[in-house]
Amino acid sequence: MNMLFHHHSIESLAFDNRFTRELPADPQTDNLRRQVHGACYSRVMPTRVAAPRLVAFSREVGELLDLTDATCLSPDFTEVFVGNKVLPGMDPMAMCYGGHQFGSWAGQLGDGRAINLGEIVNNSKERWTLQLKGAGPTPYSRRADGLAVLRSSIREFLCSEAMFHLGIPTTRALSVITTGELVERDMFYDGHPKDEPGAVVCRVSPSFLRFGNFEILAARGETALLQQLVDYTIRTDFPELGSPSPATYNKWFAEICRTTAAMIIHWMRVGFVHGVMNTDNMSILGLTIDYGPYGWLEDFSPDWTPNTTDAHGRRYSFNNQPHIGQWNLLQLANAIYPLVGRVEPLQEALTEYNEVFLNGWNLMMAGKLGFTSFEKSTDDTIIKELVEILPLIETDMTIFFRKLATLPTSLQVAATDPLPKPLLDAYYQPEQLTEKYTATMNRWLKTYLSRAQKDKGSKQERRQRMNRTNPKYVLRNYLAQLAIDKAEAGDYALVGELLDLLRNPYDEQPKKEHFAAKRPEWARNRAGCSMLSCSS
Ligand code: AMP
Ligand code: MG
Repeated sequence: MNMLFHHHSIESLAFDNRFTRELPADPQTDNLRRQVHGACYSRVMPTRVAAPRLVAFSREVGELLDLTDATCLSPDFTEVFVGNKVLPGMDPMAMCYGGHQFGSWAGQLGDGRAINLGEIVNNSKERWTLQLKGAGPTPYSRRADGLAVLRSSIREFLCSEAMFHLGIPTTRALSVITTGELVERDMFYDGHPKDEPGAVVCRVSPSFLRFGNFEILAARGETALLQQLVDYTIRTDFPELGSPSPATYNKWFAEICRTTAAMIIHWMRVGFVHGVMNTDNMSILGLTIDYGPYGWLEDFSPDWTPNTTDAHGRRYSFNNQPHIGQWNLLQLANAIYPLVGRVEPLQEALTEYNEVFLNGWNLMMAGKLGFTSFEKSTDDTIIKELVEILPLIETDMTIFFRKLATLPTSLQVAATDPLPKPLLDAYYQPEQLTEKYTATMNRWLKTYLSRAQKDKGSKQERRQRMNRTNPKYVLRNYLAQLAIDKAEAGDYALVGELLDLLRNPYDEQPKKEHFAAKRPEWARNRAGCSMLSCSS
């Protein structure tokens, strides 16, 4: 296929499957669950489904694959991206990986419900892997069914694209398609299973490799294959680091430390909580991957986690994410140690993670506050105090920062004043605004505004700068749930509307104001809004 040819139909997608061409396959080709040794993947076909129907597609991801809207709306598209039709040139397979789950080594996990269809090189010479999630069992499905339900598929689809438009590194989502079949799930693990509509998401990423792909080979002592996979990854996704050697492995690890830190800083900026930061859910490219029981901070509670499975330990709570990122990197360091042979460079990169994170966090917070740079002598305290004050009472993080941007730096505030009016929108329970709280917040505001007043940046542009860092629209947990409720009743319009809204998360979008409102009371304790399980 001529690469310069503009794709018009699905049939003209040009596959170039480097991963399966260069890395060893599991010789066994039947679709039976097993431990897979000496291989990076197992070939497996998606399972056919009865009555697929397109719920939504992302135009921008279609464009990455040189697919037009018309093609994405064609019946062929639905057949292909639900897994009913395998195109010539595809080489479907599931990857073998392991992982540390909730702090313990879990052995082989692998793509239990993900099937990689193949790699596309688009007209801009970018390489994209296409992956179906929920398209049936694979050799890695263990005791589960390989399927996914509509609710979690909509959550993954919308959040991947929302994150992209927020400027956060992430895997992408091309489409979500219902299968016309039912899938049984016990959402709360309480012995009350329910039939739910099944769905398949097509995910798109330069690579789906996780820390766990490397860990499983190290754990099994398959060092030659480990080196082959690392060399492959460096040549494919990190060519700028030079040809593979122990020195390059160290540079590679240091780079993964930096991209992981950068990703988590973005999460902290927008109030995203991943929910299951197991090492099998950590992308080697520093992309947000595997949207499961994730959530968005509504009130700013640093120890909040959306994942009910983690409610006790809170290992993956908002504030713990930076630390867990480093813990996961340590597991990756252990895995590649046999190739490097020395602890010091790996240790150094892990230590540097702290610095990179702290510098990035300071810059990010300074940006949220509208400062053009981080000035340690003043800003350290301003930031530290703010993250102590925000959790004191129920405060909507997203609204708070947008409203803060509206306050003029010349505003005079005294401790005994009521809070500046615009900020009142950010609070969930007005009765919590005690005199003591108000005085504390006003004192902080006074210091903050005078610092903002002295900032080098232009006063006129302060609000715009802040609004480019502080989104107005995020995928609030209850919004996703509203779209799911409607979709389960066959109405997909809200999925499309939210996708469209979240294309421009930093814009005011006056007609869409209601989507920026704080969580309504009904959603406070509703399943799917405040609590999520891994059952998906
Ligand atoms: P997670 O932490 O949700 O990303 O998943 C952990 C592991 O469980 C991965 O290996 C998944 O492929 C696998 N898994 C999760 N759900 C299913 C399912 N319904 N069928 C098969 N495998 C699954
Ligand atoms: Mg996973």
